[in-house]
Amino acid sequence: MRTLSLPEDARAELATMVREGYPLETCGLLVGRQANGQVEVQTVVQSRNINRERAEDRYELDPHDFLVTDKRARADGLEIVGVWHSHPDHPARPSETDRVAAWEGWSYVIISVTRDGVADLRSWRLDSEQFVEEQIQLCPR
Ligand SMILES: [Zn+2]
Repeated sequence: MRTLSLPEDARAELATMVREGYPLETCGLLVGRQANGQVEVQTVVQSRNINRERAEDRYELDPHDFLVTDKRARADGLEIVGVWHSHPDHPARPSETDRVAAWEGWSYVIISVTRDGVADLRSWRLDSEQFVEEQIQLCPR
C-alpha cells in the first residue's frame, strides 16, 4: 500500500477548514513532494469552490488559486501533489464524479464531515482508472 505522510498540524488545519465550510463542500490543494511511491505533504491550501449550483456535493477548484499555489510551491522547491475536499454528511470515499475528474499521479484526500466535526479522513489514488486507498501516516512537524 502506498503511503501519504501528513503533518499533524496540516491535519488539524484541514479539520478546521472543513468544519467552517460545513454543510458545503470545501476543497483545496496538497503541497509537498513525492518520490518512489511516497507522498509527503508539507502544507495544505484552501481554494475557492467555484461550483455554486451544487456546492453541497460538488467541488471545482478555482483555476486562479491553482496557479497561485503552483507558483508558490515551485518557488519553495515543492509541487502540488494532490487535492483535498470534504464530503459533508457522506463517507470519505470517492464518488463517480471524483473518479472521472481525477488525475493519475495525484493523491485525493477526502474528509467526511458532519455537524459534529471530522468523521473520517482518507486518501485515494487513481490506478488504471480505479481509486485505490493509500495509507495516511500522521507525523509530527
Ligand atoms: Zn467527492
